[in-house]
Amino acid sequence: MSTSRGNTTRQRPQKYQNKTAFKNDLHDTSHRTKIINSLDITGVCKRCKDIIEWKIKYKKYKPLTAPRKCVNCEQKTIKHAYHMLCSKCATEKQVCAKCCKPADSPDEEKVDESQNTAIQSMLKGLPERKRRTILRYLNKQGSDQQKTSIAHLEKMIQEMDKMALEDDLDDFFSDDDPISSDNEGKE
Ligand SMILES: [Zn+2]
Ligand SMILES: [Zn+2]
Repeated sequence: MSTSRGNTTRQRPQKYQNKTAFKNDLHDTSHRTKIINSLDITGVCKRCKDIIEWKIKYKKYKPLTAPRKCVNCEQKTIKHAYHMLCSKCATEKQVCAKCCKPADSPDEEKVDESQNTAIQSMLKGLPERKRRTILRYLNKQGSDQQKTSIAHLEKMIQEMDKMALEDDLDDFFSDDDPISSDNEGKE
């Protein structure tokens, strides 16, 4: 035994390694396999596409023999194996036809991620007080946080530099803030 119980880390290199990559049509040149291999997987998210392509590659893919019932419109309109929704419903709802999660837009995700990283690194370089102000602002934005642009934050910081932002830097002024006591004394 190369691995003891609970030890899942392989100690030795893999004993047998395929000289060539697995080919599903090496011994099977049937029409069916050819058709499956030429399938274009659409209407599903990246993850589901990978899963289905994996199934095709390793001959686990089982095409539908008859149209399947869509979980949304309850019509027998599904023509693709492993799909839960028919193409029409998936398109209308803008979700993946297999996992039914919102259709992903990888580009948008990437932008959000790099933006978050940029915001984080920008915050790191700020003095404590400004950082707190920006964080407070970001928290207020809540779910809109993703939409906060770096340019906008940079502008905020510039403004802070310019006028030391009376309102945002609420710990900047002492309790007897002349502005608010002025307002109170009016009436
Ligand atoms: Zn449907
Ligand atoms: Zn999916």
